[in-house]
Amino acid sequence: MISSGRTSTSNSIVVVGSCMIDFISYAPRLPKSGETIKGSKCVTHFGGKGANQAVAAAKLGGNVTMVGRVGVDDWGTRYIEHLKHLNVNTDHVKITLDAQTGIAQIIVANSGENLIVITCGANDKLDEKDVVLADTVIKAADVLVLQLETPPEVAIKALELCKGISILNGAPAIANIDSKLLSMPTIFCVNELEAATFTGLPVKSESDARKAGVELLNKGCNNVIITLGRQGALLMSKTGKTIHVPSPVVAAVDTTGAGDAFIGALAYLLANRKEMSMEMCVGLACVAAADSVTRPGTQRSFPGIEVFGMS
Ligand code: ADP
Repeated sequence: MISSGRTSTSNSIVVVGSCMIDFISYAPRLPKSGETIKGSKCVTHFGGKGANQAVAAAKLGGNVTMVGRVGVDDWGTRYIEHLKHLNVNTDHVKITLDAQTGIAQIIVANSGENLIVITCGANDKLDEKDVVLADTVIKAADVLVLQLETPPEVAIKALELCKGISILNGAPAIANIDSKLLSMPTIFCVNELEAATFTGLPVKSESDARKAGVELLNKGCNNVIITLGRQGALLMSKTGKTIHVPSPVVAAVDTTGAGDAFIGALAYLLANRKEMSMEMCVGLACVAAADSVTRPGTQRSFPGIEVFGMS
């Protein structure tokens, strides 16, 4: 059973993080420096790790509040409407007057190679005051979800206020992370590449991931989850237990956002299925994430509660 020190029966989830608009251009190959080439299509999606994870939890039926920032532009207004439409509470999504909405420009070549430039814009302006303004919802949250696309000091402030379970998704990985961000969250969750960056160890196999997990626990993490793509996830805790949780075998179509589907589902399960062990929650988060990779897109590929075969 998962202990958060809370006795409340409420099931709220608060996500403090980024909102980005993804512009994805598909081209036969990546352009060379200074070169212009013709693409085959360009699509626009609502993205950003924070909002993706909020949407993943909300699509499962979670009671989710987003704390974040968008710019004073059409994209910002549209993003807030989009989140509202998906039942994410946006009372703490602030429109920032002196910044644009975060934008990710992505070029995907036929080979699958990509080039990405992220302009964080309003996301970089998210500050500790925004978190303090949301302190009532953060203190009441059963599960707090954080990532590293917004300033690290914002995550630390939110962790200071949190009384429930906290999940820090260490993405994107940063070389010199403040040790508080390892020791304060209940769960530190990363994929293999991120685990390698945080530990300086190569992570190319499950046994490498086990070593990286031990290193993260030695650095102060309480519980570590390393997601392993189609191989599921590794759950390791300070108490010495290491569990490899498999993912269902599926025909993957698009794995973009699989990690966000996993975190959102994990948050939903930890908040709402308190009778379940952490291992069971991780197993079902793998089920949700595996399901999401069978459809194209990110947020639109995230499943509803029917994915678990329970109501
Ligand atoms: P990220 O998207 O951050 O790189 P992963 O690739 O590790 O994260 O995927 C997160 C989770 O998504 C995995 O733990 C697994 O449950 C699921 N998943 C990803 N790819 C596949 C796949 N090809 N088949 C089944 N499940 C997958």
